[in-house]
Amino acid sequence: MSETIERVKCLIIGSGPAGYTAAIYAARANMNPVLYQGTQPGGQLTTTNEVENFPGYPEGVTGPEMMMQLQAQAQRFEADIRDGWITKVDFSSATHKVWVNEEKEIHCDTVIISTGASAKYLGLESEQKYLQLGGGVSACAVCDGFFYRNQEVVIVGAGDSACEEAHYLSKLCKKVTMLVRRDEFRASKIMAARVQNTENIEILFNTETDEVLGDGQVVTGVRVFNNKTNEKQDIPATGFFVAIGHKPNTDIFKDYLKLDATGYIVNEPGTSKTNIEGVFVSGDAADHVYRQAVTAAGTGCMAALDAERYLAAKDATFEVSTSLYKE
Ligand code: NDP
Repeated sequence: MSETIERVKCLIIGSGPAGYTAAIYAARANMNPVLYQGTQPGGQLTTTNEVENFPGYPEGVTGPEMMMQLQAQAQRFEADIRDGWITKVDFSSATHKVWVNEEKEIHCDTVIISTGASAKYLGLESEQKYLQLGGGVSACAVCDGFFYRNQEVVIVGAGDSACEEAHYLSKLCKKVTMLVRRDEFRASKIMAARVQNTENIEILFNTETDEVLGDGQVVTGVRVFNNKTNEKQDIPATGFFVAIGHKPNTDIFKDYLKLDATGYIVNEPGTSKTNIEGVFVSGDAADHVYRQAVTAAGTGCMAALDAERYLAAKDATFEVSTSLYKE
C-alpha cells in the first residue's frame, strides 16, 4: 500500500445533521470517524435562517448556529472533521475506496453517505437575491411556513411536493397562489384534487414567474406571466416558495449503489444499509419524503449504529476464524 493511502474505520461524507449525528455516534463507539464536510459545510440548513422545529431549542436557533453546535459536539468526542470534497469512490471490493479532491486516496472499512439533496430553484436573479438575504424565498414550507402565518404567499410547482406544501401553507396562510407552468398538474390526482378543493388556494395555470418583487430587504410580491397570452400581473405576497423538486447529491455513487429514478439511494427498509456491505446512507440522500433536519439526524444515528454492528460482526467472524485456525 502506498504511503499516501490512509486507512479509516468509518468515513462519513457530508456535514448536515445526518453526517454530524453519525459522527457523534461513531466517535462515541470508538470508531474514530473521519468526516469530510464537502463544499457547503453544514449542508442545506446553512441556507436557512431560523430553525424552530428541531427539538431541544425552545427559542429556535439559526441553521448555521445549529450546524456549528453539531460540529462542536462531534469534535468533543474527537471526530476528525475535515475540509474536502469526495470526488470519486470505488465500492467494487471489500475495502471501500474514496478519493478526496481527486488526489488523496482513503481506504475505508465502512462509509456513511450523508451527502443530502439540493433543492432546485428557478435561477432568477431576484429569487436568488431574496434567498441569500433570508428575506422571503424558501424551498421548504414545513421549515418556513410558520413565519408567514395569516399572510399571502406564492408557491411555484405542480408535483406532489408542491401540492403537499401548498396544502400545508393553506392551513397557516391567508392565501396561497400556486403557479403551474403547464395547463395540468404533474402531481397524482388525489394530491391535485386536494389543492383544487382548498378554498384559500388559487391555482394559476400556464403561469410562470417573471420576477420576485421586494423592497431590497424582503419579498413584497411576485410578477408572473401567462405563457399563452404573455399577460403579466403582480401578486402581493410576503413569501415565495419554490417546490420544483430536489436533486439528491449521489452522482458519484451511481456506478455502485442502487438509486431510484430520481437518484435517491435505495436503502434496505427500516435500516441505513445500501446494496453494498459496509456502505450506509443517512439523511436526504435517501429520503424524498420527510426531508427534515430531525429525520436526517435520526437516520445519521441509525447509520452509525448499523456501521458499528457491521464492524462488530466482522471482528467476531475474524476472532472465530482465528481461534478455529489456532485449534
Ligand atoms: P417532481 O419532479 O414530481 O415535480 C416537479 C414540478 O415542478 C413539476 O410539476 C414541474 O413542472 C415543476 N417545475 C420544474 N421546473 C420548473 C420551473 N422552472 N418552473 C416552474 N415549474 C417547474 O418533484 P416533486 O418534488 O414534486 O416530487 C418528487 C418525487 O417525490 C415524485 O415522485 C413525487 O411523486 C414524490 N413525492 C410524493 C409525495 C407523496 O406521495 N406524499 C410527496 C412529495 C413528493 P412540469 O410538470 O411542467 O414538468
